[in-house]
Amino acid sequence: MAWLGQNPVILFLVAAVVVAVILTVGFMALRMLGAPVDEPASRPKRTEDVEQYDVRYRCIVCGAEVRLTRLASDGDDDFEPPKHCREEMQLVVEAEDPRTTPD
Ligand SMILES: [Zn+2]
Repeated sequence: MAWLGQNPVILFLVAAVVVAVILTVGFMALRMLGAPVDEPASRPKRTEDVEQYDVRYRCIVCGAEVRLTRLASDGDDDFEPPKHCREEMQLVVEAEDPRTTPD
C-alpha cells in the first residue's frame, strides 16, 4: 500500500471515498433509528365510561397495573387493551371485589 502515500491526488480521492461511505452508512443508521416503530393508532371513534366496573390491566412483562376509567374503540366493538413494555396488557379478572359489589 506504499503507492497510496506517493500520490497526493490518489490519497485525497481515497480519503474522500472513505468519508462518503462513512457518512452514507451513518445517515442510513440514523434514519433507521428515527423511523417510527409502530403506525400511530387511528383516532378512537367511540369511548365508554367504565369507571364503575374496576377495569384493570396488568403488564405481562414487568407486572405494572393500570385501572381504566374509559375504554376507547376504533369503530368496531373490539376494545384494544393498553400496551406496556411494547406488549398488550392482560385484563385482570378477580372473582369478587367488595368495591364493585352492587348495593
Ligand atoms: Zn411493563
